[in-house]
Amino acid sequence: MSDTITINVDGKDVQVPPRTQLIEALRGPAKTDTPAFCYHQDLKVAGNCRICLVEVEGPRGFALGISCHLQTAPGMKVRTQISSEKIVKLRKGVMEFLLVNHPLDCPICDKAGECTLQEHYMGQGKHESRLDDAVGKQYKGGADHRFLDSKGNERGGKKIDLGPSIVLDQERCIICTRCVRFMSDVAKSPQLDIAGRGDHAYLTTFPDEPLNHEYDLNTADICPVGALTGKHFRFQQRVWMLKSVESIDPSDSLGANLTIDYNMSGSEGGKVWRLMPRRNPDVNKSWIANRTRLLYQNLAVNRLTDGKKAGGDCTIEDATIAAVAALKGAKKIAIVASGHLTTEDNAAVLALAESLGGKAEVFGGSWLTVGKADGIALSGDPVANRKGVELLGIKDNLDDLVAKAKDFDVLLVAGNDLWSASAEKAAKLEVIPTRIALSAWVDATVAKATIAIGIRAWAEVRGSMVNCNGRVQLLQACPVVPNSQLEAAWSVLTALSKAAAKPLTWASEVDGWKSAQARGPAFAGMTYRSIGPMGQQVALSTTAVQPVAAGV
Ligand code: SF4
Repeated sequence: MSDTITINVDGKDVQVPPRTQLIEALRGPAKTDTPAFCYHQDLKVAGNCRICLVEVEGPRGFALGISCHLQTAPGMKVRTQISSEKIVKLRKGVMEFLLVNHPLDCPICDKAGECTLQEHYMGQGKHESRLDDAVGKQYKGGADHRFLDSKGNERGGKKIDLGPSIVLDQERCIICTRCVRFMSDVAKSPQLDIAGRGDHAYLTTFPDEPLNHEYDLNTADICPVGALTGKHFRFQQRVWMLKSVESIDPSDSLGANLTIDYNMSGSEGGKVWRLMPRRNPDVNKSWIANRTRLLYQNLAVNRLTDGKKAGGDCTIEDATIAAVAALKGAKKIAIVASGHLTTEDNAAVLALAESLGGKAEVFGGSWLTVGKADGIALSGDPVANRKGVELLGIKDNLDDLVAKAKDFDVLLVAGNDLWSASAEKAAKLEVIPTRIALSAWVDATVAKATIAIGIRAWAEVRGSMVNCNGRVQLLQACPVVPNSQLEAAWSVLTALSKAAAKPLTWASEVDGWKSAQARGPAFAGMTYRSIGPMGQQVALSTTAVQPVAAGV
């Protein structure tokens, strides 16, 4: 059976998937730009904004229908704005109604530059205002829109503090209900609703209840206008000043897809200003948790920007020289890999151990507690690349290291904060006289190290991680702001191989990936190009994991 059907759009036959939302078929195979405010790929259909209207042929000829709600069927005939003047006129009318009470405060609105209302005005609106100045707008941000609810709480008006994360500018809301549906259907916590009727309708929380949920910042992303804004980003940047790179959540093994947005201009050139969810239907759909979204705030805090020797600061170069000397003179070396680093970094751990010969032994794993999957964008396992380390053949055997710690005279820990994960267990490693830590932050392990070398943080490296479902995903690098001299862990590890008779000569993370492929059969045939922005699944026989589903 064919997996496509034929529909006719503006007189042309198009092959589309059966029983899919017509708006998706129009935007996809039919290549027909179709506007929407209330429709969202990862939410249930509401059909209240009416801007996606098209004409569809039925028993009584062509009739109006909303393309977000209609599903494709064989032989369906559709007229869009391309062939129907009626659709052009109707969409203009919808835009006029939406804008009649919408403030024209784009210059000070955080959504400017990525506002669907702005975009569709240029595409579907372009109408002259017929607003009678004597009447004026129904401006819901005014003092006259503040009122006392039945419990005596003041509500409505401008800049409404909805909770710890979100501010509502009521007058910008176009009552699309995306945020309401997100909270009910995805977050499963219906904390928002629409009250009132007609042009007096307004978005609200329940009396005395805040909007307070681990995923509530997603409502600001999906708000098609600037009605909902995240407190962390409000008035921080103009979005057109930002550049983006694609990456993944480094704090959870689902590896929710996201973009890192940074600004190259100004005195803080390269500073990261926000993380935004990046749609991947097979991983996190369009959502990320608040705690993932706010990870960027740690990129500039407590960084290990140089080296340390015996607790004192030194240059990266001096710390590296000291570490090479320690490795050279060691009788037995324990090297700890890390599920917080990329697969390339961990391949470098193995390559370094090999180059050092029989005196080096590799250990892996983490003492961090694994929680439960939330069914949206978190698996509950804080070790993002646990699966990648496993596919390289590195064992989960930190407890073995503790048991035989006294056998070693050098411990090298790469990006794995053992002392934070379990100070009690890690304390037993303090019998090892020389402890070398590679870390992006001045963490508890650096505090216990005799030599520490700063490395790049997750947002500053290019490489790959394997999520809990066996999906290889790429991290792309944004500028290294704390100190441009910082290198990725794989680079520092290969520099440390100067302690070996035959040092490693890797030129880039691609050499790390090739090394990982040589060690992990699951990676055979994969390239950065084939993995791409959406990731690539390793052969199922090589994964023994319970799949963790993304929400709704
Ligand atoms: S606040 Fe935004 S997302 Fe929510 S109903 Fe209003 S316009 Fe839609």
